[in-house]
Formats: sequence, structure tokens, C-alpha cells
Amino acid sequence: MSKQRCTYFVPGPTWVRPPLLQELTRPMIGHRSAEFRELFARINADLKPLFATAQDTFVVTASGTGVMQAALENCVARRVLVTTCGAFSERWYNIAESLGYEVDRLDAGWGNAVDPEELGDHLARHHRAHYDAVTITHNETSTGVTNDVERLAQVVREEAPDALVLVDAVSSLGGIPVKFDEWNLDVCLASVQKCIGLPPGITVAAVSQNALTRAKKHPYRGTYFDFIKYKESADGNSVPSTPSIPHFYALAAQLEHILRGEGLEARFARHRRMRELTHEQTSRFAKLAGDADHASSTVTALAPAMSAENIRNEMKQRGYTLGGGYGQWKETTFRIGHMGDMTVEDLEAMLNVLAEVTRG
Ligand code: PLP
Repeated sequence: MSKQRCTYFVPGPTWVRPPLLQELTRPMIGHRSAEFRELFARINADLKPLFATAQDTFVVTASGTGVMQAALENCVARRVLVTTCGAFSERWYNIAESLGYEVDRLDAGWGNAVDPEELGDHLARHHRAHYDAVTITHNETSTGVTNDVERLAQVVREEAPDALVLVDAVSSLGGIPVKFDEWNLDVCLASVQKCIGLPPGITVAAVSQNALTRAKKHPYRGTYFDFIKYKESADGNSVPSTPSIPHFYALAAQLEHILRGEGLEARFARHRRMRELTHEQTSRFAKLAGDADHASSTVTALAPAMSAENIRNEMKQRGYTLGGGYGQWKETTFRIGHMGDMTVEDLEAMLNVLAEVTRG
């Protein structure tokens, strides 16, 4: 890992290793060239272990929100159930409404995890509603809570076997295990500016055979985000329209690093260690804002005894950027992003300064 220190602890975009910034400056190649096809093939092969899938993986030139919209446009004809527990899970709701779907919502409340039993009860009671899909947010970045996607997806399979499971793994993929095939997911997406540690601009996704079959049945799934076009292009090691080619170079290099440099398991362990360290070093002056039993390994939302804004300002003066509170928790919380390529030592150095700032 680079010796350059990370002083940026926002929960995305995250600090980017300098060698990856170099990758972004390579000379251009055409996206219909043999060089691009070779680059694409390498990326596509490495996305399979990242998602733990043997099914299709795509790279979309759009931020994560774009691919959330894509997942709905391709997989939902009429009705969708959105599980919510914070700002980003609510985004699924807003997108689905804007597309004109009938949207139901199972709300766990800000800071809580979605309860599998409540999901099961809801699905059992509304079975006749026939949901085309259920959305789940793996890691709710606004509250620092990780949902048990494996269990939630299993409940959907049991209670509503026809519903596709659409998962936002924007702030988990590459930092917290995601097992696409084993958990029986249908769409799972992650923008790259979080745990993958690249600049924002592209999103990676895994898409099941069931989701593709469903998409094929929809006559009006748009053009830019059409999964069938993505699938046809990917089979020829390409993409439907001009992608952000610099990002493809950087993604190939970063997947190499994640899988064969650091190693996925070591990366997950580093993220868990960063969560523990953050909890240990902040418990004196702040409470976890979200459910401690589902505390995220990639972001911690803290409700401090003193002004959250002052803490962030004091840290800024000392050269450190922390994340602000989000949405309805804006005033009362701040967030520490501990995801991507930062080292435990980088985090430790920041937490020591934070301890001084909050000593009063
Ligand atoms: N979902 C989660 C959990 C997020 O944290 C974010 C962004 O912070 C998004 C979705 C939106 O992703 P993007 O900003 O890449 O559109």
C-alpha cells in the first residue's frame, strides 16, 4: 500500500492510492479495439470473485444511483417492495416512484437494521400484491448499519419466490463480504468510489440469469441502461456505448491489487479492524448513532456529546476531513468513513488527533 498518508475519512468518495491516479492518465484507446477487449476481459474475470458469482457482471459508466434506476427499469414491470432504514435505502423508494411503479415500503426506522422476521410477515401478508422485486441496501451509509442480506434474501425466496432481489452494495462491496450466488441475489451494484477505492464515475454490477430473463420480457427498458444490451456487449468483451476508459484502466489495476495483492479476506479483516478501532477510540465522547449489533465495518455514524460540526471543523484545521451527518441526522451526527485503501495506521493517526480534539 502507498506510503502517502490518507487524511480523508469521508464515507465516499474515498482516498485513492497514487498508482491508481496514474492509471487514469494512460493514453486513450478505442472501446471497439482489441486492447479494450483484452482490458475488459481481465476486468470481467476479476469481478466474478469480487461478487462471488459465476453469473454475468457489468461495468456501467454511471454512478451507483444510475444502476439502481437500471435495476428497477430492467426488473420491475409494476410493483416493488422497498426496505428502508436510512437515506440511501430511501433512494430506492424515490427512484421507483419517479418511474411510476406501485411502491410499497417496509421501514425499519433510521439507524435500525431491516428485521428479517418483519420482512417475512410483510411478504406473507401482502403475498397477493405480487412484487416484481424487493430492494435491500446492504450497508446504509447514512447510519453506519449493515443489513443481513443473506437472511433477508432467503426470506424473499421463501415468501415471494417470484420477486427478484435487488441489492445496493455501494458501500460494502470490497470491504464486507458479498456472496451473490450463494445468497441468491438478482442484481447487486456498487459504485467504485467507496470500498473499491477509485474515483467516482463507474459502477460495477452482478446480474442473475433470472434478472436477464425478466428484463427480456420488458419491451420498454430504455436504451442506456438496458441489461440485455450490456449482456450482448459483455459476451463480446465490450460495452454498449463509450465508457469512461480511464476508469477501466484503474479498475483493472485495483482488482489486481484487491484479489492478488492485499487479498479479499485480508481486506475484509482490515475493514473489521478499522471498525473496532473506531469504536474503541470514540466511545469516550460519542455514542454509535445506529444499531450497535449491526455496526458497519466501512462507516461509523457517531452522535457526540458535543457539537458534531465543531469536531469536524477542529479536525479540518488539523488537516483531517471527516464526513458530516446525513439527512435527518445532519445536525446531531458525524461520520467516519473507514473504507477503501486507507491503512489501519492512517486511521489510528487520525483517531489520536480526534481524541485530543474531543478532550475539551
Ligand atoms: N447507496 C449507498 C449505500 C450510498 O452510500 C450511495 C452514495 O453515497 C449511493 C447509493 C449513491 O451512489 P452514487 O453516489 O454512486 O450514485
